[in-house]
Amino acid sequence: MAKKKDTKAAKKKKDSAKVTKAARKKDSANAAKASKAPEAAAPTWADALRVGEGFTLADVDPRSTPAFAGDKQAGKDALAAADAELDTLQEQLYAESRAGGRRRVLLVVQGMDTSGKGGIMRHVVGSVDPQGVELTAFKAPSAEEKKHPFLWRIRRALPGPGMIGVFDRSHYEDVLVVRVHDLVPPAQWKRRYATINRFEESLVDDDVTIIKVMLHISPQEQKARLGERLERPDKHWKFNPRDLDEREHWADYQEAYQVLLERCSTERAPWFVVPADRKWYARLAVQQLLLEHLRGLDLTWPVADFDVEEQQARLAASEV
Ligand code: AMP
Ligand code: MG
Repeated sequence: MAKKKDTKAAKKKKDSAKVTKAARKKDSANAAKASKAPEAAAPTWADALRVGEGFTLADVDPRSTPAFAGDKQAGKDALAAADAELDTLQEQLYAESRAGGRRRVLLVVQGMDTSGKGGIMRHVVGSVDPQGVELTAFKAPSAEEKKHPFLWRIRRALPGPGMIGVFDRSHYEDVLVVRVHDLVPPAQWKRRYATINRFEESLVDDDVTIIKVMLHISPQEQKARLGERLERPDKHWKFNPRDLDEREHWADYQEAYQVLLERCSTERAPWFVVPADRKWYARLAVQQLLLEHLRGLDLTWPVADFDVEEQQARLAASEV
């Protein structure tokens, strides 16, 4: 028994030696990095998915899994493993706002019917404390909304300080479905790209971190998903016969997406195209994009504006 304890202790010692050694190695690696000329940072999900100069949507394989080499199970495990960090960062963002901070995050999710927007809401956004999230799903505008400029309802739905706002569809519908069906005169929707860029620029100036995600599926995958909705009685509620009419306009929608990606992926509010034929990958990718942007805010816990020791002493002395 004693011997076993000894070995355990010895192992513990060895392990801690390993840790210090690893830490030292890391330190010296960091030091080397710092002393050398700027070294390329590790590639990020954002780098892999960002829409840059010369981007062509048709060249993105909807079944591909950029920035991730693992299989479905590994993807699901990675998604679950990142929950805790996402929770902490969200709480820090919220805590910052309680201390007077104004920063907030806006995640915009777009994609064709059945591209998995709902799954993102459930599996990625759904894992965050609901008190820290403001989710808005944009449908065809109501009579009231139609009386106002297209950004009116969007402005009203923007997240407050400390919140993570999530748009399931967005102002981009006003250059998608509206463009494909000429719901307003072309001269009007054509002006909207520039209007959207100015609008988003003003949001970024106002401490909003914008993450715009397009879930990119193939027409074959949409056919399979619509087929599943028709086959399963528990999915009939999700099926909308109008989705089949929209499907006929596939090429027009792809073109409309190509144009908005080109025109509205800006330096300060870029678009990210997420291949979405594999649901597990799309969920992981959106979660990781959200995480990377939150990490980029360098959030910390607000420092107490009271004397902690004094309060501890008071608590200890309290007789209740
Ligand atoms: P769903 O997301 O499946 O509930 O469908 C919402 C519907 O609202 C889609 O058919 C969108 O194209 C439509 N929609 C959303 N925003 C707009 C808009 N600005 N103008 C017209 N239709 C819109
Ligand atoms: Mg739908």
